[in-house]
Amino acid sequence: MIVKVPFVDLKAQYDQIKSEVDEKISWILENTAVSLGQDLRDFEEEFAVFCNEKYSVGVSSGTDALIIALRTLNIGPGDEVITVSNTFIATAEAISLAGAVPVFVDINNDDFNIDTSLIEDKINEKKKAIIPVHLFGQPANMEKISDIAVKHGLFIIEDACQAHGAEFIGKKVGTLGNIGAFSFYPGKNLGAYGDGGAVVTNNEELYRKMLSMRSHGEVEKGRHDIIGSTNRLDNLQAAILRVKLKYLESWNESRRNNAMLYRKYLEDLELELPEEIEDRKHVYHLYVVKVKNRDMVREKLFERGIATGIHYPVPIHLQPAYGFLGYKKGDLPVAEETSDSVLSLPMFPELTEEQIKHIRSSLIEVLG
Ligand SMILES: *Cc1c(COP(=O)(O)O)cnc(C)c1O
Repeated sequence: MIVKVPFVDLKAQYDQIKSEVDEKISWILENTAVSLGQDLRDFEEEFAVFCNEKYSVGVSSGTDALIIALRTLNIGPGDEVITVSNTFIATAEAISLAGAVPVFVDINNDDFNIDTSLIEDKINEKKKAIIPVHLFGQPANMEKISDIAVKHGLFIIEDACQAHGAEFIGKKVGTLGNIGAFSFYPGKNLGAYGDGGAVVTNNEELYRKMLSMRSHGEVEKGRHDIIGSTNRLDNLQAAILRVKLKYLESWNESRRNNAMLYRKYLEDLELELPEEIEDRKHVYHLYVVKVKNRDMVREKLFERGIATGIHYPVPIHLQPAYGFLGYKKGDLPVAEETSDSVLSLPMFPELTEEQIKHIRSSLIEVLG
């Protein structure tokens, strides 16, 4: 018999919270509380509390969260922003859409995050900010990044879109720079049933600017101080996220437990497993291993009913969309090597030990 293992299982999650979610949705519809409603305000407060930060603003997506953060810090045409190339393309797109230029720095071999020893070489008067990405759910080295940012007067915007609840030396990510950006895309650790995102900050002035920017720069009815857009988090999605937020901590613990089981069952195979660095709490948005002959392994796992992913097959500096920046193969060797060998195994809170054992036995067959 073939045991099917999906890459994520949103239906299994919905089954646990169905009654609460359904009740919320019908309440919203019955009361036509569809835009900038109480559930949005309540969610913003609850998400700020979760992050241990003063303010949070619900926005339309993680990409928009990054764009709003950049624009709020007055980063735009003529400016450059330091980030990584092995991330979801949205990190770079946000910089471009704000009018600035992304400058890519290579990554570490162990945690897939920005190699902080390479940042200072890139700094000149055009650089305005660093966007570290807490990739796959593991925090980047925020201590080093903060030191560099302070020394050179740069802003820090954390791309925490894969890391809701992850911690660096006991502090939640998103709160370690000037602004933190989150995505609530359905498959994220905290996901809506549609698109959504949030920015968090401790700075009241930044908070007020982001609050108005996400809704046409309106500060009071009919008065628009800055140019914004339609970037609100839907009240309906906020209501759903309020239900899910209560479970986030326990879902993250289940992900961490699954990562432990993966280590137990895969440790003796020809694979490089992800390392959790000391003082960092990894929340395993993705469980990414490195393996030889990756594409063949992926194909054969698929034949055995196991869905996997590749995050990311082509680093952004080599994507056609960014060809105009003039990067070439060899410019970011670690990011490039990584993109050839990474394989994301199924990871979600409801993944069972049985499924992980099936992945083990399939991998033994595939790897020979
Ligand atoms: C998902 C994601 C984003 C963008 O979020 P959306 O809500 O899809 O716009 C940005 N950065 C990273 C690292 C992501 O994983």
